Amino acid sequence: MNEKPIYKKDVPAGSLKKFAIENRGDSFSDTLRKQIFEKLTTHKLVYDEIHPDLVISVGGDGTLLQAFHRYTDRLNETAFVGVHTGHLGFYADWTSEEVDDLVQSIVGKDFNSVEYPLLSVSIHYMNVQPSRHFLALNECTVRSVNELLVADVMIKDEKFESFRGDGLCFSTPTGSTAYNKGLSGAIIHPSLPSVQLTEIASINNRVYRTVGSPLILPEHHHCQVIPVADRSFTLSLDHLSSIHDNVRQIEFGVAKEKIRFARFRPLPFWRRVRDAFIG
Ligand code: NAP
Repeated sequence: MNEKPIYKKDVPAGSLKKFAIENRGDSFSDTLRKQIFEKLTTHKLVYDEIHPDLVISVGGDGTLLQAFHRYTDRLNETAFVGVHTGHLGFYADWTSEEVDDLVQSIVGKDFNSVEYPLLSVSIHYMNVQPSRHFLALNECTVRSVNELLVADVMIKDEKFESFRGDGLCFSTPTGSTAYNKGLSGAIIHPSLPSVQLTEIASINNRVYRTVGSPLILPEHHHCQVIPVADRSFTLSLDHLSSIHDNVRQIEFGVAKEKIRFARFRPLPFWRRVRDAFIG
């Protein structure tokens, strides 16, 4: 019953040699950034913003989202850890008072590398424009630019429903406590590779009918959103937003890439959920 789950791996002390710091930018986070920088360089770790083994996010969960999007091209080589300078976070779980402990752990402690699933988003266009591929750590939302979103939702290439409403939200397990929760989605343990689809204010009548409940898709299923009329969409990827025209379809699934967190001490997910939402 107590075997180590496969999403956790043991990593020996001394594996982290190069680090970078992502900072929220407020004065307190900046002061903390300087302290961490000085303490780690004193221990002969090298500051390397291009090829870090470890990215330390100082701020909130939003800061870790920024860090993730800065380093999406080297997820296999980089682990993340978050220090929060506001309220307790889901990604940022070390406090500002614990910076010395964190530094000691980075420098000299065996740790667990914990891998969590990401969302894969592929946009295919009507014209010759090449398809574009993105990753999200929390979620991707799809909205129409000009009017209500009207689209067919396909699961594994088969039509599932006709959607008409404000939009659709596809979230990762770690994103399930973010916007997804505000849409009454379920909270999913991050060890479950899955994508959750929640509706944003759907309109139901005899023509457009949706299931109304959040859907949780396993790793081997994918979901497509196909426009019925308007082909311009606003996509949010975590904190980023972009407009896409002439869209033929958008495909969502569990990404083959994963994010790795450096876990220096146990941090049960359900305890974090309780602390964040129940108190
Ligand atoms: P923001 O509007 O400045 O902050 C959104 C809030 O969501 C912050 O309190 C942030 O925590 C928190 N958050 C981020 N990821 C989370 C997670 N995985 N679990 C629980 N809470 C989380 O936006 P932002 O900081 O740039 O972050 C963008 C994210 O905001 C989006 O990915 C989306 O999930 C979330 N959002 C939520 C709602 C909603 O719940 N109604 C609406 C819009 C956007 P910190 O304060 O620690 O940074």
